[in-house]
Parts: sequence; structure tokens; C-alpha cells
Amino acid sequence: MSHLSVAKFGGTSVANFDAMSACANIVMADANTKVVVLSASAGVTNYLVELANGCDANRRSEILDAVRTIQYNIINKLQKPDAVSAKIEEILQHITALADSASLATSLALTDELICHGEMMSTLIFTQLLAERNYPAVWVDVRNVVATNSHFGKAAPNDEKTQQQTDAVLKPLLAEGKIVITQGFIGRDAEGKTTTLGRGGSDYSAALLAEVLNANDVLIWTDVPGIYTTDPRVVPDAKRIDTISFNEAAEMATFGAKVLHPATLLPAVRSNIPVYVGSSKAPEQGGTWVTRDPQPRPTFRALALRRNQILLTLSSLSMLYAQGFLANVFAILTKHKISVDVITTSEVSIAITLDKTGSASSGADMLSEELLTELRQYCNVQVETDLALVAIIGNNLHTQSGIAKQLFDTLAPYNVRLIGYGASTNNVCTLVQNHEADEIIRALHAALFE
Ligand code: ADP
Ligand code: ASP
Ligand code: MG
Repeated sequence: MSHLSVAKFGGTSVANFDAMSACANIVMADANTKVVVLSASAGVTNYLVELANGCDANRRSEILDAVRTIQYNIINKLQKPDAVSAKIEEILQHITALADSASLATSLALTDELICHGEMMSTLIFTQLLAERNYPAVWVDVRNVVATNSHFGKAAPNDEKTQQQTDAVLKPLLAEGKIVITQGFIGRDAEGKTTTLGRGGSDYSAALLAEVLNANDVLIWTDVPGIYTTDPRVVPDAKRIDTISFNEAAEMATFGAKVLHPATLLPAVRSNIPVYVGSSKAPEQGGTWVTRDPQPRPTFRALALRRNQILLTLSSLSMLYAQGFLANVFAILTKHKISVDVITTSEVSIAITLDKTGSASSGADMLSEELLTELRQYCNVQVETDLALVAIIGNNLHTQSGIAKQLFDTLAPYNVRLIGYGASTNNVCTLVQNHEADEIIRALHAALFE
């Protein structure tokens, strides 16, 4: 079979008419790009989440106007706005009705049903844009393809069913020579209800579709020309990384590098599908290839930052010589679907950070009262907020001498709340104060990369 690429364009890439036109140029310049996955136009999902969380009538109409303006600013520049405006009106009416319901009672299922419409609108408009250029684009409702469980807000894909639906729905279109335009972020559960994969989930959708289509690669088109040694918004001198391994990129994503959704690399690793990251505004600038075993593999690769972390310190006198304390704590966290990431232990206490990355679409608070009440039955619970997790990503960090010295020397002026080192060959992480995080990233970048 000929080369097949799945391309994904993020929110800023489809934010306005010019940005969308640049995406159309990229798609039409590459005959291998036969499946295109889009995010909602920048800002739309945030507005829809606000509606889904319930707001008063005034705010609802303000938000509806804002969403309408974003979409019509693009539609009005099409050659034939009427070709999509009726469908967009229908969607806006549907959003209005769902927002009215959400103002009375919110639910996770209702949230997903409401927020899926951002991607619905962007894909309808983009399909029309390509049609006006006589490109054989066809719009597909991805809910007929991506099957998930019913964990609304952060649903997990059902790989087998997604494969079957891909074979039935997508493959015949591709065999006819059509270019499929479809939504990222959303899916459907066994009962027919709309689900979402979590904020930023369109990257994950693209990788999932690439896997079931046996694609040769996934092209993530975003607002930066590749993966950098750290977020270029924090460190303007950050350098582009030309090639990086799946493991390193997965660590970066997990520890907060927003450029890829943390789950994106799962299908890519499983099926060994290279992932490219480039800028839709400046494709000529090149980008980063994420592959299984690129060379060289430097000791220090990148720095990642996750803001607004929660640290739980759980202490119990009965932990001394006791068995089962950790098991009980983890059982409670599992029950509340919370994943723990960095952990340190002492004789009678454990400190753990809670992983918020790839968080639920509703933005719901992880630390619920029910969770705290259950934990308090076993131990004293101390909650600290306003912390940030700074991670150094690299290779064989645990076997090199001098890593700790470099780290401690640079961190000397700052209060370091916790350090995680030794479990992973690919990272060292430290928990610091939120307000010092950017400064610390800049200091570490200067010490390790410049
Ligand atoms: P999209 O809407 O296309 O999915 P995102 O905003 O989710 O785009 O991700 C792109 C952003 O990721 C960049 O604008 C950049 O600020 C941020 N980012 C964080 N860490 C990195 C990094 N190491 N390299 C590149 N970009 C990064
Ligand atoms: N539109 C969704 C979000 O803003 C998904 C995505 O952009 O990847 O989170
Ligand atoms: Mg993103």
C-alpha cells in the first residue's frame, strides 16, 4: 500500500481563516496525508467547558456570541458560506439547549455531549474550505469510528471495536481516494453516548487512528516548529530537538510538555509509528521526529514543567512496622481514579504528588472531599498546593556521576520541597514553589543546555 500519513492540526492552527488556509496548503502539498484530524478552533473548547459547568443566562448568551463570532469570522471568508452555515446554526442551537440543561444540572456525560461541538464545527468548516479548492475531502463523524468506554471526560479507547469501525467506515473512503477530515478528542461509548479523551486529546486521537489504519506516520502540526529543549515560551533560547526517542518524548509529555498529549505516544510505541511535530504556520522551518531509537541520545535532553501540583503527605504512627498501609492508600486512590506520580517515603509518612496531566475534560478538581474523608480514616492528611514539578529528562541519568551535584548547585538558592531520582533512567524531578518555577527552568536550562 502507498504511504499513509495521519495529520493533526491543533486549535491555533484552525483558529482563523488564514491559519486554516495554511493547513489546507499543507494537506494539499502532501499526497500522503489522507486522514486529517482537527481540534476545535482556539478558545472554543474553553468556552464550551464553561457552559457545561453551568452559568447564568447572561454569561450563556455572551459565550454563545463569542463562539459564533470565532466560527463566522472563518465562514464569512469562504467562497460559499451558505454551504456550511445551516449546519453551524443547527450546532449552535444544540449547544444552546445543552447549555440551558447544564445551568440546571451538570453531569460528565452532558459535558462531553456539549464540548464535542467545537471539533464538529472546525471540521465542517475545514471540509468546505478544501472542497472549494476542489480537493476530494469528506467529513466523517469520528464517533462512528473511535469507540471508548464510558469514563466521560477521560475515556479510554476500545481498540478492537475502533479497529472494526475503521475497517468499515474509513478504509472504503480511503480506497475511493477520498481525504478524510475528522475530529480529534471525541469518541462514543457502547450506549451511543459521546465521550472525550481529556483536554488536549486530539493528538491522542490522531495516533489512535494512525495505529488502526496501519499508517506510516503521524504528523502533529501545531504552533511551534518541533519539540524544544524546554517550552520556548518560558525560555526563548530553547533549542529544537531534531530527533528524540518515544521514551524521552513520553516522559516530556507526562511531565508537562504540552506540545504532545501524554497518551499520544502509547499507540505510536505499540505499533512503532514515527511521530513528527512541526509548525502549521511555518512548515518550511522543519520539525522534530519522534522515533524508536534515534541517535545520539544525550544525557540531558529537555526540561519539562507542570504547574499547580498538589502534594499529599500522609502520615500514620501505625505505619511503623506495619504492613498494608501503602496498599490501603493506593486502593483508595485507585478507587477515585487518581494516578500518583512522584512519591517519597519515610518511616511513618509518604509524600505523593497527584498527576493532573491529561486531566478530565470538565477540569473537575481531583481532590474531592470524599477522597480526603476516606484517606483520613487511615492517616493524617496534609495537602499542599502552589507547587510546580520540574523534570529533567534525559538518558541513563541514574548511572552517571555528578548529576546530583549539577542539580543541587543550580537549585541552591531555591526551596526544593521534594526530589524524585533513581526509579527512572529517563528523569529526575523536583517539586518547587509555583512562583519560582519559571526562574528555576531558566537557571537549569542555562546550566545544562546553554
Ligand atoms: P495545539 O493546540 O496545536 O495542540 P498546544 O498548545 O497543545 O498546541 O501545544 C503547543 C505548545 O506547547 C507550544 O506553544 C509551547 O508553548 C508548548 N510547549 C511546552 N513544552 C514544549 C516543548 N518542550 N517544546 C515545544 N513546545 C512546548
Ligand atoms: N479541543 C480539545 C481541547 O481544547 C482537544 C484538543 O485541542 O486537543 O482540549
Ligand atoms: Mg495540544
